[in-house]
This record gives sequence, structure tokens and C-alpha cells, in this order.
Amino acid sequence: MRKQIVAGNWKMNKTFSEAETLITEIADALDEVDLKDAEVVLCPPSLYLEMTTDVAFESNFKVGAQNIYPEDSGAFTGEISPLMLKELNLAYCIIGHSERRKYFNETNEFIQRKVDALLKHNIRPIFCCGEVLPEREAGNHFDVVKRQVEESLFHLNVDAFINVVIAYEPVWAIGTGVTASKEQAQEMHAFIRGLVSAKYDGNTANETTILYGGSCNGKNARELFAQPDVDGGLIGGASLKADEFLQIVTSF
Ligand code: PEP
Repeated sequence: MRKQIVAGNWKMNKTFSEAETLITEIADALDEVDLKDAEVVLCPPSLYLEMTTDVAFESNFKVGAQNIYPEDSGAFTGEISPLMLKELNLAYCIIGHSERRKYFNETNEFIQRKVDALLKHNIRPIFCCGEVLPEREAGNHFDVVKRQVEESLFHLNVDAFINVVIAYEPVWAIGTGVTASKEQAQEMHAFIRGLVSAKYDGNTANETTILYGGSCNGKNARELFAQPDVDGGLIGGASLKADEFLQIVTSF
């Protein structure tokens, strides 16, 4: 059966000491709860990755990065590479986040290169897709998501694809406090799973983890995660408070 995952995307938040405190609080709390079969992933700013992996080594969570540049090394000032993440034994890396698409002009093609660069080092991409509000209002949300998934992921063969985690994140729901309804989430997740089934096969679609992201919190996680095609969440703001994040990871 496919993996259920809750991943915390800290974005560009927390000082070093605040991050240390939050990681310790989460690690301690995770020791006390039954995660069932769910996996917890923390994605702190890259500066804190090593410290986070040190704690994760003795705890019940995995670590992910928030971004990479799709080369192993080279003259790319300010960037970090998948090879560097591999040396830290990182399990996951977020790519295609709407903030990177918006502020750094990342295209589906560039994100495809990141997918390949991560998979080359056995790091699982958490691939974000989702429409902006005018696209939903115009009824184009399925087309937009289809294009994002096709152009960044569907060049992969099935053995590679099975390592990808997809996160559906309607951009109008990110950081806004406006969550997609459980029906809207389920509808899009089922659509994405259908795309995977048509491209690969039913078994691959069944094994693909599809997360929901966008103002998911301790109050709404349970009903979202109860949807048949919602396999957990990618959590921004609510992952910055240990007690609320713990409420979410125990919402299956
Ligand atoms: C995100 O940025 O991936 C996200 C889901 O943010 P938030 O939970 O704050 O909406």
C-alpha cells in the first residue's frame, strides 16, 4: 500500500536556535505518539539540514530539503546540489513549489531537470503542482495540473516514477487560511491518480503518494486525510508549531 506522509515545509523561517528548539520539540513529541504507518518529513532551510539530520538519526522522522539546483557541482553561486543532499542522507526534496515558480520563474521544464537530478541520487522529489485562483475560476485547473504533471514527470519510466511523491497545492490556498474543501481536494487527487494510471498502470497509480497542501491545519487535517485519494499533507505555516504539527501527523 502507498505511503502516508506529512511533510513540514518551514520555508524561510526560524533562527538557528529557534529551529533547534522546534526540531527537538517535534522529535520528543514524536516519541510519544503512534504514527501508524505514516512517515513524518521535516524540510527546514538548507542551513539547518545537517543539524536536523543529526536529530533525525535517533528519532522518528525523515529530513527533506526545500530546493536544489539540478547539477552535482559547478559555478552556481548560492545554490545547493543533490550530491550535497545525498551526503547528508536526505530522503526527500521539495520541488516545483508555487513560490519558486512565482518568485524564481521556475518552469515545468526546469523542474523536470530537478526531478532527474534528485532521482539520480535516490532522493525522492516531493513534486508540487496546483493552479492559481484565476485558473480555477476559469475552470482550467485540471488542464493546468495535467500540464505540470506531464511536463515535469511523465518522461520518467515507471521504475523511476514510483519514487516521486506528488503534492497538490492549489496556490490560492497556500498561506491564505482558505483551505480547499475535502471535495475539491479529493476531486483533484483522483484526477491526478487517473493521469498516472493512464500514463503508467493502475498499480503504479495505487502506489503513488499524493499529498494535499494549502492551509492544512490541526482542525481540518483529519477530514482531508480521510479522503480516499489524499495520502497526507505538505504543511507550511502549521508545521512551525510543534503542537499543531503533531496534531496533523496524528490525523490519519
Ligand atoms: C506550502 O507552502 O507548501 C503550504 C502548504 O503552506 P501553508 O500550509 O502555509 O498554506
